[in-house]
Amino acid sequence: MKKIYPCVDVDLGKITHNAKTITDMCNKVNIEVAAVTKVFCAQSPITEAILKSGIKGVADSRISNLKKSKDLNCEKLMIRIPMISEAYEIVRYSDTSLNSELATIRALSVAAKDLNKIHNIILMVDIGDLREGVLIQDATSTASEILKLDNIKLIGLGTNVTCYGGVIPDSENLGILIKLKGDLEKSFNISLPLISGGNSSSLHMVINNTMPKEITQLRIGESILLGRETAYGKPVANCYEDAFILKGEVVEIKNKPTIPTGKIGVDAFGNIPHFEDLGIRKRAIIAVGRQDIRLEGLVPVDSDITVFGASSDHLIIDITDCKKELSVGDVVDFNVDYGCLMAAMTSPYVEKYYNN
Ligand SMILES: *Cc1c(COP(=O)(O)O)cnc(C)c1O
Repeated sequence: MKKIYPCVDVDLGKITHNAKTITDMCNKVNIEVAAVTKVFCAQSPITEAILKSGIKGVADSRISNLKKSKDLNCEKLMIRIPMISEAYEIVRYSDTSLNSELATIRALSVAAKDLNKIHNIILMVDIGDLREGVLIQDATSTASEILKLDNIKLIGLGTNVTCYGGVIPDSENLGILIKLKGDLEKSFNISLPLISGGNSSSLHMVINNTMPKEITQLRIGESILLGRETAYGKPVANCYEDAFILKGEVVEIKNKPTIPTGKIGVDAFGNIPHFEDLGIRKRAIIAVGRQDIRLEGLVPVDSDITVFGASSDHLIIDITDCKKELSVGDVVDFNVDYGCLMAAMTSPYVEKYYNN
């Protein structure tokens, strides 16, 4: 098959394998996995590959992505705090949403009543990362208001850490959530069966057997896709880290110096560039750039290649030490990190190919 470059090659078998490894590990300690699909814009071949593992729910931050999964037979979870303006779509396209604002939950209640549905709410609690969630001292009053609403069911509590503040989940901060669950259940004589204990940064606690038994759900994206836990950035045992490969085509190869000639101003992105003098090097330009990738997250598969830099549409690499003789028209492979994968999957200029 003739390919269009740049592209991302997606190995669906590796993704199913990773999803199965992670869900088996979590199910063993009675944790269900909600597979987070936002990084790959909920492209259905990948979502279907994940669901093959037996995972029962998908989660996304955007309605347009949840719509892509609407015909898939699985639970749908909205993981960004909903906008009031999308209340009807939230109720239509998700079974459950993570929430922290009463005004929005009231709007969801109205929408759910109109649509003749019951919408599930997980109340998000901020346990220190300072992104979404009610403050601990406000949880009881908020829960009491939620419980008054029609067509809304409060099914549990949730939290998110690491994404913004870099806080690492542990039994102490997750303990706050667990204590709160007990307090709320007692105060209101209810049962809160679901405790959503975070994202891929919580997986290390499952691996190390330190996850409190009250946690019943994790929302996992990166670990399934890239085979890494994200508290410490360690590979997850028996998972693939290379299910996604970015490929770009060489459009120029020339021997050039490493220091530009002329007076140096700011680059295309407003930064003053710095150069290390490595003498004359063999440089290749790949037809891919910052409009498609996150430069810092791109790692050549061939470890003899290094990255010099990139502008909007040109990626410059050093191929001097490369054992393979590269020519114009050849294709170079790169591993990607989370940010780079997100950019590449979102860029309309990057083709996506799915292999089994
Ligand atoms: C993105 C996101 C996740 C998934 O994060 P990963 O690091 O990819 O596992 C989970 N929960 C929320 C609220 C998110 O926004």
